[in-house]
Amino acid sequence: MTGRIQAIRHVAVIGAGIVGACTALHLTRAGFRVTLIDRDAPGLGASFGNGAVIGEEAVVPVATPGILRRVPGMLRDPLGPLSVRWGYLPRIAPWLMRFLAASNPRRVEEISIALAALLKGSLAAYRELLEDAGAPHMLKRSGWICVFETEEGFRAFQPLLALQHRRGVRHGLLGAAELRQFEPALAPIFARAIHYPDVNYTIDCQGLVEVLVQASLHRGGTLRRAAAHGFDIGPEGPRAVLTNEGPVPCDAVVVAAGAWSRDLAKMLGADVPLDTERGYHVQIADPGVMPRQPVYSTERGIVATPLEAGLRVGGTVELGGLKAAPNWDRAEILLKQGRRWFPGLRTEGHSRWMGFRPSMPDSLPVIGRTPAFSNAILAFGHGHCGMMMGARTGEIVADLLAGRDPGIDMSPYGSERF
Ligand SMILES: Cc1cc2nc3c(=O)[nH]c(=O)nc-3n(C[C@H](O)[C@H](O)[C@H](O)COP(=O)(O)OP(=O)(O)OC[C@H]3O[C@@H](n4cnc5c(N)ncnc54)[C@H](O)[C@@H]3O)c2cc1C
Repeated sequence: MTGRIQAIRHVAVIGAGIVGACTALHLTRAGFRVTLIDRDAPGLGASFGNGAVIGEEAVVPVATPGILRRVPGMLRDPLGPLSVRWGYLPRIAPWLMRFLAASNPRRVEEISIALAALLKGSLAAYRELLEDAGAPHMLKRSGWICVFETEEGFRAFQPLLALQHRRGVRHGLLGAAELRQFEPALAPIFARAIHYPDVNYTIDCQGLVEVLVQASLHRGGTLRRAAAHGFDIGPEGPRAVLTNEGPVPCDAVVVAAGAWSRDLAKMLGADVPLDTERGYHVQIADPGVMPRQPVYSTERGIVATPLEAGLRVGGTVELGGLKAAPNWDRAEILLKQGRRWFPGLRTEGHSRWMGFRPSMPDSLPVIGRTPAFSNAILAFGHGHCGMMMGARTGEIVADLLAGRDPGIDMSPYGSERF
């Protein structure tokens, strides 16, 4: 395997979302020739429309103990934080079974440890890349707050707060009156809040991807606008990516195609249960009122972030696959909550968006070599945390291809874990 790694000069990275962009920049910094391939302009996938939050506190997986009890209630409300397109249920049933299996307390603890290991150093990793890209202002040091409308919601969160505490996440508690002072833009409808001081956010999600891609081009990388549909596989693994614009010869390939990675991974010998949790946002250019930092509600699965281009209210989960048309009623819920949270919010001229989180049932991404080929690396499935994990993922992929020890136990993220 070492001989093969030493022979790697040219790496093709499929997907110019946050994961592919960070990977391409790390690889060019490590001295590789890089071709970044995307069928679209960089940063137009899930990385375009997310909540923009980048921190190291996201150590709680999506499936937690008691989720089985809570899901039926959530599903009964078509406009609640979780919905299923019923026609898609047979397709996603195996994913859901794995999702539920990942919610037992022992497994949640293991997953949380693996999430924390991957998140550790995320902010430093971004700062380093953004210094390189000449754009340190893209990351804003703000902290964020998690709000609770009811005491019951706050009490229900206690086991998860304890989990964060065990992983060393710093936080402070705010009562209703303290919250009003701390974040005056919010309506007095919240009973409690948790403040996480170490969390940051990016002021422009797509802009962040773009500056990272540009930095990789500055270092000699190439961007190809093409859709990848397969690989030319030789005796030592993939030697070209096949695209609608012709083959891209390479010595190694990285699949970072977000929610669309499953078929490509399968062609490289890795059969992974990747699906998508669709999410929505509304964005208001001239909202009239802005919070000072991102505000999140676990009760509603919604985050409101003060971006450079306006207030973005986004979130919720819809299980419906990659093909169904958006259900814009779900964007309406976000607008409605935005008006409730921020008195005086002006919503005229808002834009709306739907995107595809690349989601693994156990909330852990797939990062590592395929079982079949040492020169084929998978880097996708970051679910709700791809913005946070992008920079560290790129660093790890570059280490693997350079034959360096990434300094982290990679087994929790392997494609063979299922
Ligand atoms: C509403 C919402 C809120 C979120 N909030 C946050 C948050 O606050 N913080 C956070 O960390 N994460 C958040 N996320 C999750 C985050 O957005 C994703 O995890 C992350 O963007 C995934 O990045 P990616 O690069 O893997 O995928 P993507 O950004 O989807 O990029 C994949 C790229 O691959 C390209 N591609 C796919 N197939 C092919 C092909 N065959 N050939 C060529 N190109 C191809 C696509 O065009 C796309 O550009 C949120 C997600 C949503 C939906």
